[in-house]
Order: sequence, then structure tokens, then C-alpha cells
Amino acid sequence: MAPREHIVLVGPPGAGKGTQSEKLLKLGFSHFSTGDALRKEMATGSDFGKQVAEIINDGNFVDDDTMLEIIKRNVEWEKEAYIFDGYPRNLAQAEKFHNVLMKGREYKVLWLDVPEAVLLDRLQARRICSKCRAVFNTESLPSRKGCLCDREPCGAELSHREDDREEVILKRFRIFQDVSLPMKAFFKEKGCLLEFDASLGIDEVSENIVKKLAY
Ligand code: AMP
Repeated sequence: MAPREHIVLVGPPGAGKGTQSEKLLKLGFSHFSTGDALRKEMATGSDFGKQVAEIINDGNFVDDDTMLEIIKRNVEWEKEAYIFDGYPRNLAQAEKFHNVLMKGREYKVLWLDVPEAVLLDRLQARRICSKCRAVFNTESLPSRKGCLCDREPCGAELSHREDDREEVILKRFRIFQDVSLPMKAFFKEKGCLLEFDASLGIDEVSENIVKKLAY
């Protein structure tokens, strides 16, 4: 059965939002990652892209109005069910998402919980394809082609994200605690929240998600 409600994936950096999105795509969702959309802007080398790079590489958040503009430019609302990966990310964005963007639409929030020590190890081993944005991990999910992407026909070089350096990771964790965590009570109160232990293996987490969504 094709999904009829939108999904929001929330979790600290390294919780597996991108990886679980890829798994959910097989159920018929469309995927929208704000981080990927911002990194695409960075790659253009435009003035806007340069401003975004400065913010992201320092581990800070892009402002809410810019994020809303990025959503409006990229999301095709006629599509039935999206996975929002990376938006909303603070209480103001969550309120706008619930009251404006999702007005008259159904959605669930999948909250991925993982202890910080596990996340730090994961992020330092994370590698991203510079072309198709596929996510790898040198420890738990290595590419079969070493430092090249093994997705056919991609084959592009894998890179370590500039914001996956230890001092930036620790800053992103603090921002998640201070800025993103308050969304949990908000979504719980709206009856949209589903929580997952995302320290488990990739397949186990995705099986638990599918079971709870009951598709
Ligand atoms: P991600 O790939 O989801 O880890 O996002 C990478 C970076 O993009 C974050 O650390 C933020 O700097 C920025 N970003 C992504 N989504 C948002 C958002 N909804 N609001 C503000 N900044 C964002």
C-alpha cells in the first residue's frame, strides 16, 4: 500500500536520518533533505552558497526564513507523501510546519534516539558521495569500492563532511539538545510522535519503523 501521510525524521546528527530515508524510499515516499539542499547551494559557489557554507561549516543553523524559502523552492506539494529529513529543526519551524505547511495534511514524526558516544564514533566514520549524496560508514557500512561510491552508475569520490569534525560535532550535539529537543513535547502533544531506539543496527531500526507505521 502506498503511504498517504508525510514523515518527519528527527534525531541528533548521526542518528541515521539519511540512511533510514533511503530505506523508506522503497515504500514510495519522496525524499527531501534540507542538509542536502543546502549543500547543493554551497556547491554552486554562488554568494548565497558561500554564506550558507560559512554557517554550516561552523556547525550553526541557517535562519528560519531561509529554510522556509528552501522548502518552498524544493518541495512539490502535489506529491502524496514526503520524508522531511532535517526540517523542522526548532520549535518555531515545528509550529510553522504544523500550522501552515501541514494544514489539512497528515504526518508522523519519527524521533531517532541514540547516545552521544555512539553518534560521535558514527560521524567520524561517516563518508558521503560527492555526487549522488549516498551515505557510507567506514566501519559499519563501507563502500564496496573503497573511497569511491559503489552505487551504479555513480562511482564518484566519497568525502568527509567539513562539519563532521569533532569540535563541530560536539557543537551540533549541544544545538540539538538546546534547540531541537523542545520539538519532542510539541509533537507528542499533537499526537504525531513515534520514538525509536536508533542505536540498533540499520535494518532493525528500519523494521521497527515499518512495523510502527503499519504499511
Ligand atoms: P544535516 O545534513 O541534516 O545534518 O544538515 C547539515 C546542516 O544544515 C545543519 O547542521 C544546519 O547547519 C543546516 N540545516 C539543515 N536543516 C536545517 C534547518 N531545518 N534549519 C536550520 N539549519 C538547517
